[in-house]
Amino acid sequence: MVKIKDLNFKELQEFVQNLGFENYRTKQIAQWIYKKRVKSFDEMTNISKAARKVLSENAKIDVLKVVKVEKSVDGTKKYLFELEDGNRIESVFIPEKDWNTLCVSTQVGCPIGCKFCLTAKDGFTRNLSAAEIVDQYIHVQRDVGEDRRISNVVFMGMGEPFLNFENVKKAVEIMTNKDMLDLSTRKITISTVGVVPGIDRMAKEMNKVKLAISLHATTDEVREKIVPLNRKYPISEIMAALRRYPADNIRRIMIEYVMLEGVNDSVEDAKRLVKLVKGIPVKVNLIPFNSYPGAPFKPSSKEQIEKFQKVLWDYNIAAFIRDSRGQDISAACGMLRTKEKCNRC
Ligand code: SAH
Repeated sequence: MVKIKDLNFKELQEFVQNLGFENYRTKQIAQWIYKKRVKSFDEMTNISKAARKVLSENAKIDVLKVVKVEKSVDGTKKYLFELEDGNRIESVFIPEKDWNTLCVSTQVGCPIGCKFCLTAKDGFTRNLSAAEIVDQYIHVQRDVGEDRRISNVVFMGMGEPFLNFENVKKAVEIMTNKDMLDLSTRKITISTVGVVPGIDRMAKEMNKVKLAISLHATTDEVREKIVPLNRKYPISEIMAALRRYPADNIRRIMIEYVMLEGVNDSVEDAKRLVKLVKGIPVKVNLIPFNSYPGAPFKPSSKEQIEKFQKVLWDYNIAAFIRDSRGQDISAACGMLRTKEKCNRC
């Protein structure tokens, strides 16, 4: 059985041809799946019954099942999905005034093990397929209704996207193809912990979508303590990769920086950050640490975050404080879990 959402447009075309159908069927099928978001081939009423039967014998449409939906007081919605092998992942729908964003997962769990991240505690199980990534979008869009169109997608859920490059790339192709999900490349952001070969590959193969880097520290000494992968890809190598990256003022690189009290939030850190990003078109996103019982860090105070932000602005670096959405349902950054046990610890 082919999982039809694993196929980009070209592959869908080949699949349709191999079944002996006319070429124009590809567009029709893509539109039923990605625009009308049907769940079965039987709903494809402009395709003959016999052809629908052949399709359903050879391919499958949905690969996820919604297990639970939680809604935050701020309107954010968290979805718990079950995969065909029983594993579970989460996605977060974040409504804004003028647009809607979906935060998707790319792996079941995560192998990186950042010290402040709750997702890391579940360990790593496996990569998601392209269909499992794309299906998060389709299921959430079906649930929230077509009048609340998801325009933005951030690859900031569970997992490290660049350790699953092929499938992430395929998912982006499906999301941006005009006959498929038809999202604007500028409205898709991929966030990496700093896997340097992934950044270089994105520069060549996917540079129309936006890049975000979870930097979180300005010295290797501190970064190694909170992001273990820093031993493999230290700050200097990450910054060198960002300098090679084809960014400009329109398509700036987002630097993510989680604010941990007394760890990485001093004015000296802010000044070091200014030096690190000098000459690179960036926008800094300061993320207030989302704490949880037993967390090994404390969130920086609002005043300290603002002080840090001011240093950046003083040096003409755009810096914003990320609004932590969906905290009451553990949907904020780093809170997504694969195991549905105690939601907060
Ligand atoms: N693996 C990718 C994608 C995850 S994006 C990456 O590291 O970029 C999620 C963002 O939330 C990352 O910047 C991550 O470091 C951050 N994060 C993780 N746990 C957090 C927490 N408890 N509070 C605030 N931000 C957190």
